[in-house]
Amino acid sequence: MSNNKSHDTMISRIVASYAARTDVTPNDIVELISKLRQEFSTEIAVGASEAKINTDKIKPALPIDQAVTQDQVFCLCCGKGFKMLKRHLGVEHGLNESEYRKLFDLPETMPLVAPSYSDKKAAHAKQLGLGKYHREASNRDEAYTE
Ligand SMILES: [Zn+2]
Repeated sequence: MSNNKSHDTMISRIVASYAARTDVTPNDIVELISKLRQEFSTEIAVGASEAKINTDKIKPALPIDQAVTQDQVFCLCCGKGFKMLKRHLGVEHGLNESEYRKLFDLPETMPLVAPSYSDKKAAHAKQLGLGKYHREASNRDEAYTE
């Protein structure tokens, strides 16, 4: 009931500004009112169903607790698996990481890179660092012995 009343207020506001125009006849106004009433009643129906879609989370392509495996991270939009999701999200779905997280209500801690892939990268970096350290250390040793 209160909804209809607020729509009536809205309609009368629109009609008032419309009626202020010099090129409008009383018939035009009557027509406008009935049109607006129709528009608003369809809009109410559409608005209600839209609101329902918005409040429901988009159903992920697979359960979120299955979206991350050791070697792949699965896209919840389409169910494809990747080592890194970021690029796919941008190219295929036009989403950035935070939009994707918001869409499926994902926690910040949820990885978007396969654990094995980031492990390998970390291990590789560590190896490089260690290798450098060893080389420098042995060079220094040689310097000392000379
Ligand atoms: Zn996808």
